[in-house]
Amino acid sequence: SEEVISTDAVIVGAGPCGLFAIFELGLLDIKCHVVDILDRPGGQCAELYPEKPIYDIPALPIVTGSELTHRLLEQAKPFKPEYHFNQMVTELRKLEDGKFELKTDGGIVFHAKVVVIAAGGGSFQPKKPPIPGIDAYEGQSVFYSVKKMEALRGRDILIVGGGDSALDWTLNLQPIANSLTLLHRRDDFRAAPDSVKKMRELVAAGKMQLKLGQVTGLTGDNGVLASAQVKGTDGNFDIAANAMLPFFGLTMKLGPVAEWGLNLHENLVPVDTAKFETSTQGIFAIGDINTYPGKLKLILSGFHEAALMAQEAFHHIHPGERLLFQYTTSSSSLQKKLGVA
Ligand code: FAD
Repeated sequence: SEEVISTDAVIVGAGPCGLFAIFELGLLDIKCHVVDILDRPGGQCAELYPEKPIYDIPALPIVTGSELTHRLLEQAKPFKPEYHFNQMVTELRKLEDGKFELKTDGGIVFHAKVVVIAAGGGSFQPKKPPIPGIDAYEGQSVFYSVKKMEALRGRDILIVGGGDSALDWTLNLQPIANSLTLLHRRDDFRAAPDSVKKMRELVAAGKMQLKLGQVTGLTGDNGVLASAQVKGTDGNFDIAANAMLPFFGLTMKLGPVAEWGLNLHENLVPVDTAKFETSTQGIFAIGDINTYPGKLKLILSGFHEAALMAQEAFHHIHPGERLLFQYTTSSSSLQKKLGVA
């Protein structure tokens, strides 16, 4: 029997808008679980431009994607949200008691009073390298993300790529691997300089190998990888490995959101601008995933949308109850929730 997590709200997507929704819902005592496919919070800010400055966040004249994410997490902290990373919400349906059931590809089941879809441009999905026959090894020997590090303990690991994911996982997996090789097209990395330095130190200490080239084929049996064939700058060679992790970046696809009966319009979820509710009462959509007349795909729009969404979510959870409008500067009850009074 599967374990069911019962909660007030499930937020689908931990991008900037999903993260700010935790805060706005929290002020109204609505408890949240947050799910994201990525292995970290921040959505596009974390995945596409962590080091780039953003100049149009109100009152923060300059802030990088990763710093904005960090600040939003900090702001949400008093409300003790529970995060579930590396999980894609695949199913969403209404139950007979009016609650919603959500299921993830990692086997988590939620029952929630309200659902907030903050899925941005949709689900991030790995770009696959063009290697013939790679499908046969996926899930057994070829992995595009690491769900459980333990599954890779003691294996001969080949990591392919030159960005942050490739370097981060090289450093994380090296201590538990039997052997580890990092393969990249050229001796030049797009990853954080500190990670590159640490990787080069491990190579110098003989604890892992760095090779240059591109994988052209795979050899193995029944989905169990034995070696990868590589075309290098001066000749071809093989790398023995029984686990391969290609990190070739991610693309955004709408993904499962399309299957939840939300009256999509050009792959976006239409909402009304008073409540940011979808065509299904109790399901809201905020941030880049929604559409309405005049919509601007800006982070600041999503923040406003989160505030109005939370008001209506409250009324959905507590029908007929009055909601007192309060300022955080002057309400001692809000300050108590924030842990500052
Ligand atoms: P996202 O940031 O897209 O996050 C959505 C999250 O939902 C993702 O992490 C995704 O994995 C997750 N998700 C989707 N489907 C599922 C599912 N089924 N299950 C689980 N998780 C799911 N905006 C500005 O305001 N100012 C700027 O200067 C600016 N610069 C930008 C520069 C670049 C290069 C890019 C690409 C965008 C920029 N933007 C800027 C736009 C801004 O990043 C987006 O408006 C913002 O990220 C939208 O936030 P979000 O929370 O709606 O969605």
